[in-house]
Amino acid sequence: MSDAIATARAEGRTLLSEVESKELLRAAGIPVTEARLATSASEAAAIATEIGFPIVLKIISKDIAHKSDVGGVALGLESASAVRRAYSEMLERVLAAAPKARIDGVSVQQQALPGTEVIVGATTDPQFGPVMMFGLGGVFVEVLKDVSFRIVPLERRDARQMIREINGFPILQGVRGQKGADLKALEKLVLDVSKLVWKRGDIAELDLNPVFAYPDGAIAVDARIVLKAVDADGKEG
Ligand code: ADP
Ligand code: MG
Repeated sequence: MSDAIATARAEGRTLLSEVESKELLRAAGIPVTEARLATSASEAAAIATEIGFPIVLKIISKDIAHKSDVGGVALGLESASAVRRAYSEMLERVLAAAPKARIDGVSVQQQALPGTEVIVGATTDPQFGPVMMFGLGGVFVEVLKDVSFRIVPLERRDARQMIREINGFPILQGVRGQKGADLKALEKLVLDVSKLVWKRGDIAELDLNPVFAYPDGAIAVDARIVLKAVDADGKEG
């Protein structure tokens, strides 16, 4: 069992924090931005200096699902003093927006270069068990519901097809002289998530929203994992 999962289980939690989720993903070879938990402004500044600028800060709270909705994401921090200031301002903003939220700290992470935003997810269907989802990020998923699904475990062919069958696929191929996304890297990422979910068997939900797709490579900048509940005999329910 990974440390992240052991800690969550010991605390009776099923929701992993962004930092814990990324730790698990990274161990499975899935590309994620390096993210570490800070519990003070000076710790955040010290971690930022180790990781390198620009830095992104995000609130870590089990009571907050959408961090940007409560002012819990700060992008483009260029110095230790900017990180220090952003840390305090973020806590004030978040506590004003969500006064009852329990705050565990702030995730300090490497800022990824902009890319085409896609989402990769896994859910558990009561009938089919684990199911993978793929789509473009932003309005495409929220408004247009332009997503594809496959039952886990996926074959390479399934990953290829599910990426190609969304309506927005031309955007990934590259439009009007823009370079397309690295489809091989996306296929590998989808397959590696499928493998992780299949191998572990204790993941109820997994969301990488967004993944930045580049002409060369792809990286998840946000991650959320929910474990299956464990019943009184310690068996997964
Ligand atoms: P939430 O979905 O909880 O609001 P996210 O972690 O997805 O928070 O962050 C919101 C947005 O900020 C993302 O959609 C992405 O565009 C940007 N973002 C988040 N983390 C990074 C990062 N490490 N590097 C670059 N951009 C980021
Ligand atoms: Mg997100």
